[in-house]
Amino acid sequence: MTASAMTDDARATSGVPLTRPPTDLLRGAALFLDFDGTLVDIEPLPDAVAVDARLHALIARLADRLDGRVAIVSGRSIEQLDALFGGLTLATSGSHGAELRAAGGSGEVPDRPRALDQVIGTMQRFADANPGVVVEVKSFGVGLHYRGKPTAEQAAEALATGLAADHDLSLQRGKMVFEVRVPGDKGQAIAHFLDGAPFAGARPIFLGDDLTDEPGFEAVVANGGAGILVGPPRDTAATYRLNDVGDVLAWLDEAGEAA
Ligand SMILES: [Mg+2]
Repeated sequence: MTASAMTDDARATSGVPLTRPPTDLLRGAALFLDFDGTLVDIEPLPDAVAVDARLHALIARLADRLDGRVAIVSGRSIEQLDALFGGLTLATSGSHGAELRAAGGSGEVPDRPRALDQVIGTMQRFADANPGVVVEVKSFGVGLHYRGKPTAEQAAEALATGLAADHDLSLQRGKMVFEVRVPGDKGQAIAHFLDGAPFAGARPIFLGDDLTDEPGFEAVVANGGAGILVGPPRDTAATYRLNDVGDVLAWLDEAGEAA
C-alpha cells in the first residue's frame, strides 16, 4: 500500500496536533525503527552515514530490555544495515520490506531482477547529464537522488516513473529521491514480524520520518499499536510525533529505561 492509499481512518488523525509519545509507551512493546532520518540524520550522500558508539549502545540496550523485540525496518539493504551496526545482528527488514531476517537468524532474500541493471544504466546516463544528481545502487532497487540538483525533480520523476512501468518494478518516492525497486512495503514487513517470535502478541510501535513509513504506521495501528512520526507535522497515520533525530535518541533513552 502507498501513502496515497491511506484509509479514511488513518487520515482522520490529520488536523489534530500530534503529541510527544509518553515515556512508558515501550513497556512490553515490540519496537520497529526506520533508520535514515529517524536514528541518524540524512546526509547528502547515503554512504556518509555512520552508527556511532552512542547509537550502537542505545539499540543494544533497547533490544536487551525488550527481550529482543527490536527490529530495523529500512529502505537500505540488510547487508548495508549489518555493516552499519557492526556486530549487532538485529531482526531486520531491508529494501522497503523486500528483505526480511529474524534476529540472529537466516533471512528471506528475493531474487534480484536483471531489469535493475538496465535501470542503473539509464539512471546513470541521466546523472551524467545532470551534475549533482546521484545514482544509489541498492541490492533490490536503484535510487535517483536529486538533492544536489533540485531543478531536476520533474525530469527525474518522469524517468523513474517510466522505468518502473517498463520493468514491472515499484516506484518509491522519498526525500529528494525517486527509487525504482522490487515490490514490498514496510507495513508488510512489520506484519510479517508480528506473526512470529519474539514479536507476536506485543503492542507494536514504529518510528519513521518519510512517506515510505506510512504503510508501517498503518500496520502498527491495525495491530493495536502506534506510530511515531519523526519531523514536521504532516498528513499521517502516526499517533505521536518527535521533532528530529536528536529528539528520537533522547526519547528512546528515556522510554528504554521505563520499558
Ligand atoms: Mg527514514
